[in-house]
Amino acid sequence: MSGLAERLADLAGGAMMDEARVLGCGRLSREFVRVELSAEAFRKATWVPGAKLQIRPRRGSMSLRTYTPVSWDAARGVTELIAYTHGTGPAAHWFDSATEGRTCQVFGPRRSIDLGGVTGPVLFIGDESSVALACALCTVASDVSYVFEARDPGGLTDVLAQVGIGGRIAVTAKSADRTDLLAQARQGAVRTPFTLVVTGDAATVHAVRRDSRGWERKPLVVKGKAYWAEGRTGLD
Ligand SMILES: Cc1cc2nc3c(=O)[nH]c(=O)nc-3n(C[C@H](O)[C@H](O)[C@H](O)COP(=O)(O)OP(=O)(O)OC[C@H]3O[C@@H](n4cnc5c(N)ncnc54)[C@H](O)[C@@H]3O)c2cc1C
Repeated sequence: MSGLAERLADLAGGAMMDEARVLGCGRLSREFVRVELSAEAFRKATWVPGAKLQIRPRRGSMSLRTYTPVSWDAARGVTELIAYTHGTGPAAHWFDSATEGRTCQVFGPRRSIDLGGVTGPVLFIGDESSVALACALCTVASDVSYVFEARDPGGLTDVLAQVGIGGRIAVTAKSADRTDLLAQARQGAVRTPFTLVVTGDAATVHAVRRDSRGWERKPLVVKGKAYWAEGRTGLD
């Protein structure tokens, strides 16, 4: 990007986005970071569990990255994010180097998966990028069966325990054919009528949606969203 384009991106970011400050941050593991963000604008925001918040992780660029608030404290103007910092993308870098007092520009919260009206049993399927959504779901539903796929199942199991996700939970190793994941999903689809929430890898979301059409007990409602896709950056 040219110097002028970078300055224009910074001007646009300043005009369109809100300034947030890191109030606290800590590591759940080598690849997971929990960050508490505070902003004056958060006091006036209406948060629906499952909503998204976008951050601008790099100055000089308008490219945004999307995260899921775990909780929202409007009185204090504070929210919390949990990021899986795989790879070397701008957001992974931003979260890896987050320190107390650091600022960033944010946009949102805005609607994404709407967990607000979820009642009854939920079958939750996700991966490392879905941990924050699982936490947000805990604020509205208690009867949840979780199925996760992960590059490091042991590591993710430990992170889930730290954030209080437990009970009926299966963490499978990520595989190209998703055989284990789909088998666990079918086993979890027994408590009718249930809501299916599926997020994470676009290819997995697609495979689960397709497979669920053949389940003996089908979901009453499906809430699905791709959070990332192989070879693509910054899905919204
Ligand atoms: C609505 C929504 C909510 C989301 N909430 C969260 C959240 O709460 N926590 C969270 O950690 N993520 C969340 N994500 C996913 C996150 O936005 C992406 O992982 C994002 O691409 C990370 O940005 P980056 O700059 O680190 O990497 P990018 O520059 O976007 O991508 C770099 C490379 O990494 C790959 N990649 C991206 N994400 C993953 C992944 N998870 N696993 C493996 N490879 C990946 C890409 O395909 C690309 O090749 C959410 C996404 C959406 C759309």
